[in-house]
Amino acid sequence: MSDIAIPADPSPLHSSIVTEVARRRTFAIISHPDAGKTTLTEKLLLFGGAINLAGQVKAKGERRNTRSDWMKIERDRGISVVTSVMTFEFEGLVFNLLDTPGHEDFSEDTYRTLTAVDSAVMVIDAAKGIEARTRKLFEVCRLRDIPIITFINKMDRESRDTFDLLDEIEKTLALDTTPMTWPVGRGRDFLGTYDIGTGGIRLLEGGGAKTGAAQQIDIAELAGRGNLDVAEVKEELALVSEACKPFDLEAFREGHLTPVYFGSALRNFGVGDLLEGLGKFAPPPRAQDSNLRKVEADEKGMTAFVFKIQANMDPNHRDRIAFARLCSGKLTRGMKAKLVRTGKNMSLSSPQFFFAQDRALADEAFAGDVVGIPNHGTLRIGDTLSEGEDITFVGVPSFAPEIVRRVRLKDAMKAKKLKEALQQMSEEGVVQVFRPRDGAPALVGVVGSLQLDVLKARLDAEYQLPVDFEVSEFQLARWISSDDPKKLNAFVAANGSGVADDVDGDPVYLAKNEFYLGYTRERAEGIVFSAIKDVK
Ligand code: GDP
Repeated sequence: MSDIAIPADPSPLHSSIVTEVARRRTFAIISHPDAGKTTLTEKLLLFGGAINLAGQVKAKGERRNTRSDWMKIERDRGISVVTSVMTFEFEGLVFNLLDTPGHEDFSEDTYRTLTAVDSAVMVIDAAKGIEARTRKLFEVCRLRDIPIITFINKMDRESRDTFDLLDEIEKTLALDTTPMTWPVGRGRDFLGTYDIGTGGIRLLEGGGAKTGAAQQIDIAELAGRGNLDVAEVKEELALVSEACKPFDLEAFREGHLTPVYFGSALRNFGVGDLLEGLGKFAPPPRAQDSNLRKVEADEKGMTAFVFKIQANMDPNHRDRIAFARLCSGKLTRGMKAKLVRTGKNMSLSSPQFFFAQDRALADEAFAGDVVGIPNHGTLRIGDTLSEGEDITFVGVPSFAPEIVRRVRLKDAMKAKKLKEALQQMSEEGVVQVFRPRDGAPALVGVVGSLQLDVLKARLDAEYQLPVDFEVSEFQLARWISSDDPKKLNAFVAANGSGVADDVDGDPVYLAKNEFYLGYTRERAEGIVFSAIKDVK
């Protein structure tokens, strides 16, 4: 969004784009498994009235099975492989919550989804603080300086010291914190929160779920409730006003500072404050970098990029859904847009909106929205669709795999077919494929093991290629580059069997473990080892 209030083009279409874009908030929730992401999602959706029955988000079992044959693995394992987008309206704003697959369905798509949002809510378990997965997802957000709002959850249970938690965020993530609310009591004695901005108190008993002004009561009035130590709370609040940084919108928008809210998703407490904060502070759709220029979200021409491909596991339906994030303008059903990579026009005859469990045709969508575009393999991850100009968005990177396996073909005669299939699968972003320069069989890399299950199932169903995966001597992969081609060539020559080509033919160094990686890196002068490869 530009800061200029007067639109350059005052035509009715353009002014509707400006208005629609300004009221959109596209975000994701990042957390470690069990911190409360699903519970919080349900509560957020309840606020927006997107669903009227809490508990639908993680619904498993019978009802799901009867829904569709959308994906066999999804049915078999009762998990959601589809990155769904949940859209809800609240106080005039349109929130697009992009689901980041977690638990067993954690995959590279989880990371890629974060390239399609403008902000993120970081959910932290108050008893545990920053956990491994949260930290990893945070690092992906930091690549693009995505603003983060923090929700410290499970305050109704035993929790760590509040200052300790803030300190941990500051130290481990190098992110300034500003508490927006402050817990009054903790664990069994958690009574509610103090609103640092207004000085009001919101009590857990009565009114916790509602947004709106907190009650103006003096903390002293809460004396005698449970084991609340009023003097301690007062002391903490004095320390907060003395020691904590005031909220700074610009620092937040630049990804340097996080506002922190406390609550309990399970008790639907503090969720309203969080949602209000998201509406007030989280940015509307941001300008996106392309190969030619920055594209502003409220420009008239429709542009979008593909960040995820979902294939149908049913071999009779070879359709794919490409998830595209609109970067500018307005998409209208039936419009034509150019797939910039091939230069060919595509007719967007049935773009779809996704909901927690459902999808529906999208008649129109605006920058910040995510639509699913059915296709037969035409669209790839990172593709740009454009109504006018030939631009290509940068920024759906590849992430170094956390699991590396060698593919073992049951029928050795089909090696050529496997090569083609793996190429296709890696272009679709199912797995990454690494071809060792010494001619050894290909390796595949993933960030979540479900990706291997998907690959196996799809190779079997679509290519009649039964495969197994073997643990290889390599565990880590890093893209290597150098300003000096001679140095790179010398490194490749010296590390023969440990160098492979990725899907684009870019060199990758394969290491046995962290120790070897560190050892090699220290001695490889002039070579850059990277855990992320940007799409150019
Ligand atoms: P996810 O794995 O991050 O999606 O976490 P879930 O939302 O599934 O929550 C994990 C567990 O924590 C479930 O048993 C929830 O009921 C519980 N939980 C979530 N939020 C809270 C909370 O605020 N307080 C308490 N006591 N339990 C919670």
